[in-house]
Amino acid sequence: MKITVVGGGIGGLAVATALAQQSVQVVVLEQASAISEVGAGLQISPNGLCVLRALGLEKALARRSCRGHAVSLRRSESDVEVARLDLTRLEATQRYHFLHRADLIDMLLNAATNAGVDVRTSQKVSSIEPAIPTVVHLADGSELTSDLVIDASGLHSTLRGVLNDEADPFFTGQVAWRAIIPNTIMRKNAVHVHMAPRSHIVSYPIRDGAFLNLVAVQERDQWAPEGWSQRDDPKNLRSAFQGAAPVVQQMLEQVQDVHLWGLFRHRVAANWAGAGCVLLGDAAHPTLPFLAQGANTALEDAWALAACLACDGAIEAKLAAYQNLRKLRVTKVIEASNNNAWRYHLRRGPVRLAAHIALGLGSRFAPNLMLGQFDWLYGYDITSVTPEI
Ligand SMILES: Cc1cc2nc3c(=O)[nH]c(=O)nc-3n(C[C@H](O)[C@H](O)[C@H](O)COP(=O)(O)OP(=O)(O)OC[C@H]3O[C@@H](n4cnc5c(N)ncnc54)[C@H](O)[C@@H]3O)c2cc1C
Repeated sequence: MKITVVGGGIGGLAVATALAQQSVQVVVLEQASAISEVGAGLQISPNGLCVLRALGLEKALARRSCRGHAVSLRRSESDVEVARLDLTRLEATQRYHFLHRADLIDMLLNAATNAGVDVRTSQKVSSIEPAIPTVVHLADGSELTSDLVIDASGLHSTLRGVLNDEADPFFTGQVAWRAIIPNTIMRKNAVHVHMAPRSHIVSYPIRDGAFLNLVAVQERDQWAPEGWSQRDDPKNLRSAFQGAAPVVQQMLEQVQDVHLWGLFRHRVAANWAGAGCVLLGDAAHPTLPFLAQGANTALEDAWALAACLACDGAIEAKLAAYQNLRKLRVTKVIEASNNNAWRYHLRRGPVRLAAHIALGLGSRFAPNLMLGQFDWLYGYDITSVTPEI
């Protein structure tokens, strides 16, 4: 088979690598002039790690990331720890990593080119025609024909709208800032979530602990556009967290360059596949960042699609098997992510107090039980699932 992948992001490069490792001929078309990434960090949880391991990238990941030993939920106003998720209690193979997105992309790009993928930059795709063979139209007027097109072009996929009657995404009433700062507070191996009424900040170390990645979320009525590339004045971020503890203020004082975007909720696409084409990653199921699973589920999709395509059977059956394998799982992950924000944003008062006491008791006296709540998420290994065609 000759396969074209649209988008050289996390999902696109991962599926291209997995397919090329099965000796499939793959071309990746990326609109950007170079395969690179915006300045932001991301968390690879054990379920995403399974895929990177199967692609042969576990050692590279260990070299280029910080190990995550704990998730610490803290009160923003006092920096007091409310509860701690002890990730060292996970099985030895279920590790948690923090890294710069550019480092993950670089690892995936190396793996893809080593496996023989033809990665082409400055190739903006303007449309994909569902048909067999499938034609991809490029913005420069050229065309490319292949047996299958995998659309991994992210949030603004055009194929998604061709395959589905689209409902507009809605603004969740939340905006997010992201920034990278020097790690002058010497944080190691833990993600901190500072929870405040109607807002929270997530911070974790990247690049050998030299930097901290910050994502701050605030509820607000004013709409802000979707997408990661709008800059904001760092003063706005600082003023949103005025009442925070000194350590939070210290982090925010260091922010020089910050991006702000609106958080929108999208439906999981009803149809992931058409004649000779299929959606993968954010193109099929954009998620809110509250469970840090967008990249992890894109990696799971990548493995699942390559595994389905490797089975015997008609292409339609393979694509249907891929959708069946993935849709329920990603819907559950996305719902869990949607439900996380309100837990972090409780207003001061008896409900917040009771919730924090319950979390604190759980993490002190039943740490395994607390961690066990995430077994369905982190303990899932897509590489051990046999697709049913
Ligand atoms: C602040 C923030 C923090 C996050 N943190 C985490 C985290 O900790 N863990 C996690 O798992 N996820 C995280 N995510 C989500 C995660 O980054 C995304 O879900 C993930 O990148 C989706 O991968 P993808 O390959 O589907 O799409 P993308 O990574 O968006 O890649 C799409 C690629 O397609 C290219 N492209 C787009 N249109 C075209 C076109 N027409 N022609 C050619 N190329 C095109 C783009 O340039 C891009 O390279 C975070 C997201 C945000 C916003």
